[in-house]
Amino acid sequence: MIFEDERYRQFGARCVFFDRESGVSNPPFDSLNVSYTVGDLALNVEKNLEIVKKQLNVSTIAMLNQIHSDNIIEYNGEVVDADGFFTDKKGVFLSIKFADCCPVIFMDVKNKIIASVHSGWKGAYLKISQKMLEKLYSLGSKSEDIIVTLGPHICENCYEVKDDVANLFDQKFIKFKDGKKFLSLSSSIIESLVEKGINMNNIVDLKICTYESKDFFSYRRDKLTGRNIGGVFLLDY
Ligand SMILES: [Zn+2]
Repeated sequence: MIFEDERYRQFGARCVFFDRESGVSNPPFDSLNVSYTVGDLALNVEKNLEIVKKQLNVSTIAMLNQIHSDNIIEYNGEVVDADGFFTDKKGVFLSIKFADCCPVIFMDVKNKIIASVHSGWKGAYLKISQKMLEKLYSLGSKSEDIIVTLGPHICENCYEVKDDVANLFDQKFIKFKDGKKFLSLSSSIIESLVEKGINMNNIVDLKICTYESKDFFSYRRDKLTGRNIGGVFLLDY
């Protein structure tokens, strides 16, 4: 199944997130796993990517070698170590692999530039979403022309963190429950966006928790599991 932020359509783009169904991988990677590095058969991953490609009718699925960094690149056809990329090329699905981390999608609706970011707690701590905004601003984007989407990720009720992580964040992003600490990834990311001039009205959080929904891969829940795919592309018509 595909979860979509419909706002992008009017601007000639689509922002979509696939759940784990409709692929060919066997347990524990059942079934639409898109990661080559979790132990799944490469042939099945290839087949899954073909399924995604057909469903979206895109020419290319662009991927990053995600390393929980704040590296951002302009998409150039290569798979590089980074956690954010952008492009103005049509038909290129700027995809993020996720299983609890948050895919953050951007579009400058005026200049037709799209961008995707992978952000777990490390990305949030490094403020990679803010860095993506700075990159877009440097290209001439204006804050009022940018829409942002937070895709499925582990929610603040499920994302338990230890002190070493909790202490890195402003305590307003930490919830306490039964003597445990929980991080609100979305609040932290959203605040970093608002800090850099994005209007709250232009930010949508799909509010799907990968840990709670069995339809999504969740690393926290299942450990040995697959990765979901989501992202954004410009329609070529
Ligand atoms: Zn949750």
